[in-house]
Amino acid sequence: MRLKDKVAVITGAGSGIGRESAVLFASEGAKVAVVDVDESAAQDTETRIAAAGGAAFVIRADVSQAADCDRMVRETESAFGRLDILFNNAGILLPKDDDAVSTPSDVWEKTLAVNLRGVFLGCKSGIPALRRAGGGSIINTASFVALMGAATPQVAYTASKGGVLALTRELAVVHARENIRVNALCPGPLKTDLLMKILDTEEKRQRRLVHIPMGRFGEAREIARAALFLASEDSSFVTGAALQVDGGITAAYVTPL
Ligand code: NAD
Repeated sequence: MRLKDKVAVITGAGSGIGRESAVLFASEGAKVAVVDVDESAAQDTETRIAAAGGAAFVIRADVSQAADCDRMVRETESAFGRLDILFNNAGILLPKDDDAVSTPSDVWEKTLAVNLRGVFLGCKSGIPALRRAGGGSIINTASFVALMGAATPQVAYTASKGGVLALTRELAVVHARENIRVNALCPGPLKTDLLMKILDTEEKRQRRLVHIPMGRFGEAREIARAALFLASEDSSFVTGAALQVDGGITAAYVTPL
């Protein structure tokens, strides 16, 4: 049990990476606050955890709203007594996100509000609770696009994830002496709703696969295992890192055929 007696908040836990992480963390002994804007999706995750004998409860919250983030931390502390792990994972990728000329301003605003402000607000509300617990681990989900550019643009998403990485590094430095570690996950393209809704034809999927040395999309549970490493004492000397879990996409210049 790598997270025995730990309490975790996971945002975006109704689907994909967040759901797999919630289930994995609970199986490793953590008590999990399953946070999502989609309450019924979060409920499904909670049901899976409960069926396996784990401890979890649902909080409906929109991470782009300060009051929701405050409540998410407050309810977690009152249910489970403390907060040790804050996984700021919720994120969106909107269909009209394109190049700078074509992307509508409201798509830019909405993407930055969820993906970047959401991480900032999670940290704003969560860090005082981590201090009260004597320290802990913050994991922020960035992306491989925070590290490289693409000719198929999604500028709002890419800029938001670059911001998550920069924010993560700075918070890691600021809070290092408080026993609070802050790391970013940089997943590659995954077989989750977020990406598959955008890559909705075989041609689009193949165009993306060409760039991945492993020649396949990642699974959400492969990212959850990396999140578990960052959440647990296994990563006790790791802070400010950008952990790439991406099938080699950020290492590639040319991929094998
Ligand atoms: P997903 O769409 O399967 O799950 C995202 C979850 O976040 C959903 O349950 C959704 O309801 C929730 N959510 C959306 N907006 C929210 C809000 N405002 N407040 C609270 N919850 C909200 O996506 P996923 O692939 O599991 O993505 C999780 C994270 O991983 C995101 O930050 C995403 O940007 C990042 N990521 C995904 C990929 C990929 O290829 N799928 C690659 C790199 C990074």
